Amino acid sequence: MSSNKISRRSAIKRMAAVAAGVAVADKIPALASVLSPELPQDDPTVSTLQMEDFPEVYKDDDVVFHQLNPHLWIGNGHLMYNESIYLVEGNDKALLIDTGTRIANLDKIVTRLTKKPVTVALTHTHGDHAGSVGCFDSIWMTQAEGIRVPRGYTGKVNYMSNHQKFDLGGRVLEVFYAPGHTTDSVLFIDEANHIGFSGDAFGSTNLLMNLNVSTFIKSAEETLQMMYDKQIYYMLPGHFDGTNAETTKRVYDLREIAQGVLDGKLVGEKTSDSQTALNRRFTYQGVRFNYNAGKVL
Ligand SMILES: [Zn+2]
Repeated sequence: MSSNKISRRSAIKRMAAVAAGVAVADKIPALASVLSPELPQDDPTVSTLQMEDFPEVYKDDDVVFHQLNPHLWIGNGHLMYNESIYLVEGNDKALLIDTGTRIANLDKIVTRLTKKPVTVALTHTHGDHAGSVGCFDSIWMTQAEGIRVPRGYTGKVNYMSNHQKFDLGGRVLEVFYAPGHTTDSVLFIDEANHIGFSGDAFGSTNLLMNLNVSTFIKSAEETLQMMYDKQIYYMLPGHFDGTNAETTKRVYDLREIAQGVLDGKLVGEKTSDSQTALNRRFTYQGVRFNYNAGKVL
């Protein structure tokens, strides 16, 4: 729990510094060296990865797993735009973050990668993140307004609280609520390793704002403060292609867009996305912010 409470104004001022990267660290290390500190880095500022540089350790029709370091794997599916799942290992246990859209025998795949007992936790319950929960006896998810247990799931459901910790043995991941994309969106923060796992909370460069914009602003501000306090350099998102890790700059930019929309200074172009009711889209610095004009306040 954070002990240093600061005023909103100074928090926002600090956010600008955080966004510039100066308040988190003198120099934010390259993503590859944060994930694998032993790797030599030509350019210490690169925030992208070439996935091919990391060993491909499993592949079938549903998913490809790459090993990002000895204790971290990413699996990408292809049914819903490169949906990502993460397997994080401690000394005693492993945590599987999300389950993709439809990956047959995901439980067996995961036990090929780690010998540690696996706990499953969801960043949120959208179908491209919770689609393969049926392989597992129990899951952790977030209880929030309008959120139901993934369809057809009959195993044990555990509910995560804000700041709950998953202690994997020598490695702790903390749950951090960040509603905006959905009511149940959470981050998993690995403070000791300076990384987080953010699901769709900040959109993987294409944020779908299903809740009110004002709710998201609060989440973005709390996240920036947390990233500052805990020195979190990167969050690996729910649709990770190597180029779109979430940074303080990204979260800050999204917060600025959201504030502009809330203040009426920014108005997105009209879209016709009847599926999600997100009828406006604002694009800034390569990031798309999709929202519902009727759900701003
Ligand atoms: Zn989602």
